[in-house]
Amino acid sequence: MDSVPSETRPAPLPLPLHKGEVPLYMETGKAYPRAVAGLFRSVKWWTMLLTLAWWHLGPLLRWDRGPGAPDQAILIDLPGRRAYVLFIEIWPQEIYYLTGILAISAILLFLMSAVAGRVWCGFICWQTVYTDLFVWVEKQVVGDRNQRIAFDRTPMSGSKLAKLAAINLAWAAISLACGVGFTLWFGDAFQMLRDIFTFNASVPVYVFIVVLGGFCFLLAGYARERVCVYLCPYSRFQAAMFDEHSLIITYEAWRGEPGGPARKGQSFEGRGHCVDCRACIQACPTGIDIRRGNQLACIGCALCIDACDSVMDRYDLPRGLISYDSSANVEARGKGGAGRLRIIRPRTLIYGGVMALVATIMTVRLVSRPDVDVNVLHERSPLFVQMSDGSIRNGYVYKVLNMKAEDRTFRVSLEGAAGATMDVVGGESHVSQVSLQVPRDSVGTFRVYVSTPFDKVTAKAMPLTFVLEGSSRTIRSESLFAGPEK
Ligand code: SF4
Ligand code: SF4
Repeated sequence: MDSVPSETRPAPLPLPLHKGEVPLYMETGKAYPRAVAGLFRSVKWWTMLLTLAWWHLGPLLRWDRGPGAPDQAILIDLPGRRAYVLFIEIWPQEIYYLTGILAISAILLFLMSAVAGRVWCGFICWQTVYTDLFVWVEKQVVGDRNQRIAFDRTPMSGSKLAKLAAINLAWAAISLACGVGFTLWFGDAFQMLRDIFTFNASVPVYVFIVVLGGFCFLLAGYARERVCVYLCPYSRFQAAMFDEHSLIITYEAWRGEPGGPARKGQSFEGRGHCVDCRACIQACPTGIDIRRGNQLACIGCALCIDACDSVMDRYDLPRGLISYDSSANVEARGKGGAGRLRIIRPRTLIYGGVMALVATIMTVRLVSRPDVDVNVLHERSPLFVQMSDGSIRNGYVYKVLNMKAEDRTFRVSLEGAAGATMDVVGGESHVSQVSLQVPRDSVGTFRVYVSTPFDKVTAKAMPLTFVLEGSSRTIRSESLFAGPEK
């Protein structure tokens, strides 16, 4: 195994997940994860590829919404205060859709944790993905674990400085690409790319890219596993989502102990299969020893499984001394029984049920959503005016939200004020019904005056209803008509 002294950092956090206090911070030094090969490493490479591809190429996907409408499949249009997800268009007043999407994502994370532990952290989380990529860069420039430890211990020289510069420049380029990728979700991606690279984008866009890229550089380049252990709240409350049947990274102590150094070809009769080679610790991106039990710092990346499996192969021992397993199975096998995968259990059923419920509510709401909305605001100052012919006039701001991808004309009439007529500023005058034109995907704002003969005003505040027709449903908006006290 590794010829460099393995105690390159202080003892890892000896923190069983289900008991004891967790310190707010404990410096454990820099981890030097050794490169491994195996099933989980391959899965991690593919996940990294897919995650980065989605992050950077996702905004380039198109979706035809008709002429004049944005054709980006997923777009968060902050200036236009709109979000587009394929055929769904979310208006500011429909923010509950985003809440629903966030709720489903959170419950999905709970479900994933209940079934397979920190699989999100180990494979999909951006912190993991970018840290993995940054470590790969270090390996290309300096070498694997041993070379990196030696490199950090050598005094500064011209060649060391050049290598440090190369690593940091490569990290900076990846970080900027991360910042650009994130920015593209907030505007037309092709146009933004043109603007960014021809220096025609707005200052906030560049600030956004630099800030986000800066975070990527610092968190993945220098903070690394400290983010997962100390910054990310998920690592602190994940224990509440696990139970004894959750699949987590486990060391099968019943099989591994009592362990100790061993020679190839020797008999393992009467002793454990762990040869104390520390390959699992050296492969670990957080530098912990999984043989000490489940720990807060374990992000569930499964690289120690690959490392240990290759050791088991070398000694002709069965694989799986470290494996994805539940603590219930480990206990059962320790007592000579057989393990059993239990994915369907009360916890997973509750998470799945709640997720299905939220998804159903959102789907029903989406299918039955109106394509028009109205807002009426009674002007307060003054509440009313008396005209030269004695009639009483009230002013209103009438807003019509046309959520369809076509220009529309709506008819608006009144209920509740006898003999009332309407005047629309810049439109029809003295009519009992007005026509309002509202362009596609926009809010039409109209100033409407309602006038009533003096003798028809019977109270200081009479109920008045605006009735809008011309859409799939008639919309009645309650308001008041103010007049003098009689
Ligand atoms: S103990 Fe294993 S699964 Fe946990 S972080 Fe380390 S290498 Fe990954
Ligand atoms: S890699 Fe396997 S055999 Fe080596 S120390 Fe870790 S658990 Fe023991």
